[in-house]
Amino acid sequence: MFSPLNSKTVPLNAKILHVPDLHEVVSVLQTELSKNFHEVMVEVVDCPNLMEEPFNLVGGGLGGSPTLLESGGPLNLLPLEDRRKVYNIRTLSELVNERDDKDLLILGVGAGPVHLNGKNCEIIVNMKVTSNKDVKTKCYEAVVEGAEEKIDLKPIRESDIYAYMTNLFLSEGKCGKVLKVYCRKRTGSMNFLESIRLALLGFYKEKCVGLGGIFLMKNGTFIQHLAKNSKQSLPYTFELKTYEMPGPLNAVGTLFSHPNRMGLRVEHFHSFSKSSFGGHYHIDNTPSDVEYEGYFNFAEKVVRADILHFNN
Ligand SMILES: [Zn+2]
Repeated sequence: MFSPLNSKTVPLNAKILHVPDLHEVVSVLQTELSKNFHEVMVEVVDCPNLMEEPFNLVGGGLGGSPTLLESGGPLNLLPLEDRRKVYNIRTLSELVNERDDKDLLILGVGAGPVHLNGKNCEIIVNMKVTSNKDVKTKCYEAVVEGAEEKIDLKPIRESDIYAYMTNLFLSEGKCGKVLKVYCRKRTGSMNFLESIRLALLGFYKEKCVGLGGIFLMKNGTFIQHLAKNSKQSLPYTFELKTYEMPGPLNAVGTLFSHPNRMGLRVEHFHSFSKSSFGGHYHIDNTPSDVEYEGYFNFAEKVVRADILHFNN
């Protein structure tokens, strides 16, 4: 049975995150990413207008009370989907935001289905709730279609989007300084996110830092997965199918240096595109051609929704 949780009753657990100096991060990442990529340029820049090409977000920047929100987790999907453990992305984000008089930009990922009869899917969250409660959305679901299991990327028009788990970056969408990370030609074994995360972990150690934003996969092809309904057994059983997808792709999501004794998912980005491609980013499989360009902001706090017992 599909019965989404009332956002007002979802237990929330918040922790303050360490907010690093962006210039300090520049020197940390410039050194460490150069061990994994041939060409690296890390800078503090004024955020480009993220509503314009090639970004296509619904908010212009990543500033204003940056907060990370993680809801649920894989236990809501395994061994069987639990349709009582479904979160409303917008209303839960509004509750966590606590700033009704400001715009709220919600960027990140979710695990579908989005509707009662929907298929398992990857959700790409790109939504703005203005201070007068207008909702602008360019969200997508990436789904596996038909007997040939083709990838399809479909817009989600509704403002109520439901997910078994989410990793979201909340802000007011204000412009301001952000971290720009450009890498070309991968020479090491780590993916773009892992190389950033391990560099941050190595420098900040037990101090947890968390960021969100967008990165562009400009050239190359990329390994990404999609969730799908299993053909094997029970109707709601979930499986993952891995694909190679060509760039350009835009990925939104979140990253933490470590789980922060809250069971946080350390990296989670989903991509969308102007073609039918989209999904959960793993790595590129054309290292000599690859080109990444990311714009990120660090969060001041993390809110963990609906998980009260942490094991790491
Ligand atoms: Zn995912």
